[in-house]
Amino acid sequence: MNTASTKLSLTSPIESVPGVGPQKGKVLRALGAPSVAHLVHYLPFRHEREEAEETIQKIVPGQNVAARGEITATRVAGRGRKGRFEAVLMDETGRLDLVWFNQAYLHKKIHPGMRLLVQGEARRRGPYIQIANAEWKALDEDLSEPSRRDARMRPVYHASEQMPSAEIARAIEAVLDDALPQIEDHLPEAFRTERDLPSLAEAYRMMHRPEDEREVSRARRRLAYDELLFLQLAILKQRVERSELAAPALPWTKQIDERIRARIPFELTSGQNEAVADIAKDLQLEHPANRLVQGDVGSGKTVVALYAMLMAVAGGKQAAMMAPTELLAEQHFDSISRLLEGSKVRVELLTASLPPADRERIESDITSGDVGIVIGTHALLTESVKFDDLAVAIIDEQHRFGVHQRIGLRGKAEGSSPHVLVMTATPIPRSLTQTIFGDLDISTIRGLPPGRGVIETQVRTPADRAEIDAALAERIAKGEQAYIVLPAIESGDRLRDVRSTLERLETGPLAGRRLAAVHGRLKRDTRRKIMEQFRLGKIDALVATTVIEVGVDVPNASLMVIEHADRFGLAQLHQLRGRVGRGANDALCILVAEPVTPDGAARIEAIASTTDGFELAEKDLMIRGPGDLAGVRQSGAPPMRVADLLRDVKLLALARRDAKDWLQRSPKLDKPEEALLSRRLSKAFRESGD
Ligand code: ADP
Ligand code: MG
Repeated sequence: MNTASTKLSLTSPIESVPGVGPQKGKVLRALGAPSVAHLVHYLPFRHEREEAEETIQKIVPGQNVAARGEITATRVAGRGRKGRFEAVLMDETGRLDLVWFNQAYLHKKIHPGMRLLVQGEARRRGPYIQIANAEWKALDEDLSEPSRRDARMRPVYHASEQMPSAEIARAIEAVLDDALPQIEDHLPEAFRTERDLPSLAEAYRMMHRPEDEREVSRARRRLAYDELLFLQLAILKQRVERSELAAPALPWTKQIDERIRARIPFELTSGQNEAVADIAKDLQLEHPANRLVQGDVGSGKTVVALYAMLMAVAGGKQAAMMAPTELLAEQHFDSISRLLEGSKVRVELLTASLPPADRERIESDITSGDVGIVIGTHALLTESVKFDDLAVAIIDEQHRFGVHQRIGLRGKAEGSSPHVLVMTATPIPRSLTQTIFGDLDISTIRGLPPGRGVIETQVRTPADRAEIDAALAERIAKGEQAYIVLPAIESGDRLRDVRSTLERLETGPLAGRRLAAVHGRLKRDTRRKIMEQFRLGKIDALVATTVIEVGVDVPNASLMVIEHADRFGLAQLHQLRGRVGRGANDALCILVAEPVTPDGAARIEAIASTTDGFELAEKDLMIRGPGDLAGVRQSGAPPMRVADLLRDVKLLALARRDAKDWLQRSPKLDKPEEALLSRRLSKAFRESGD
């Protein structure tokens, strides 16, 4: 049956689109477009300008032009892959010369007799006009436009092997006329006009079928505005909702403060004191705190967390701290237990690898309220962990957790909500804090505790092996300790790995020294024993994977060698390097790298240039763009498809102001005319996260 008369609706399945049968439907579904509406939302990631076609005679040198004709002659000139390929294109009005440099292989693709559409900059060459390195397309007479085309912007879509961009374009073309009039706008017309924003239907039309560049940018502006408005509305709404939740107000007296400080074996830095003051103020309120404590690697966030947990205990309630790895949870447990030795506070460790009997016992003591402080991994989130009265929940190294995990811990207090503190050593770049973490209050611990040595960073290649080995031997001879970090435990022959490195060092440059390997495949007891011995100085060097990336704290370790350093992310390199320089000795970090990608080289250059985590976070942002930034992904915000948090600062300011005004007028977005906006807002946020 011919479907031309049946109108498509937005919810029509993709298979009902003319030209898309079950087979192409399957491919489009895999691309994320199961329905007509999804197809309309499938945005091009760029547009190509297609020049108006001219007859060859009318081509003006010096301009970008397009022409079609028949190839009448070809030849390869010069030798090897460096050779150039030349061709002559004729139409009924004249001759156009084509040349492609360093593309001799084209002789396999372009043959005399073929019809081609070419585009590029025309130049005069002797009696003829020439285009060098033209974009070209073989004309399949069935598919090509019947007549010469006008200038236009052609959308380019993310394609897959089975479905090239042009075919996606065709499917979208096939639905636009039916679909566009059905698209409802969630923004009132007057509101749009005031901000010079086109309607949503118009924006989609201009994205897929733009007349010119101006339309593309108008469409972008509207769609980017929507993303930013949604983000700001969601952030501000969460803030309002949180202020309506009840949390236990914890007492804070001079005596409590003194008792807590008596447990900490050093004076807090001024940065730590400021964070503690912010937190103490938060925890006395009867609304849940939601605070981000950011401080560079080694700035001393753990004792700040401990302070908050002890406030909970002093108020007769419980506290929990969740760490991203067992190794780190174990270390926190060990160090906090040491600090609380002899006190009445009961501290327990809860991880997935705990023997079931122990786990059951601990869980039941958490439920009865006997346990005051629980340190754990995401195992804390399991159903069977029920607190008697959780008042403070801390998430350490929050960038390693997903949004749902963070929200999960918050849900562990029955009746009321706990105060939540998230700690991170991966600072959110200043330029983004307000935008993305607008719902969080932020404390920044500036500066490091006194008495830290300097960290020098050197970049080396494997050719410098003797020198690197000598540095290792020398540090160990002085009684200091070292880490050697590798990207994998075992990698075949591809990379240097933990196994082969340990063997090489043991039998060679570090023979007779006490070495051990640490990685994710070790048994829990073995790993704990090794880490404890390393802490006590009974092991000279650890050969490890990135399991030691976060939190590990051994002040006597002063040398870190990172192999294949260009393979690690910038934040990760900074974290790894932060394992050294924790004592009074001057530390050295050697990055062994032969960067193969420009980004890899940029990361190495950045990490070598500074030890300031805030500066690095800004550099990371420049290298990767905000979309990839851990902080942005972890914020729970839907991915930005059109908006660019760095580029669209003006639009962002507008969206922020609009969101604020809007919620002031209508805090719950529950007016009938806001139904569509409200629905789309919660849908966007429900579908995001991880
Ligand atoms: P991070 O911020 O990276 O989590 P930690 O909390 O692990 O840092 O602290 C790093 C080291 O600094 C630990 O050994 C800790 O005991 C020590 N430390 C923290 N605060 C101080 C301080 N005010 N004075 C001296 N040492 C401190
Ligand atoms: Mg830490």
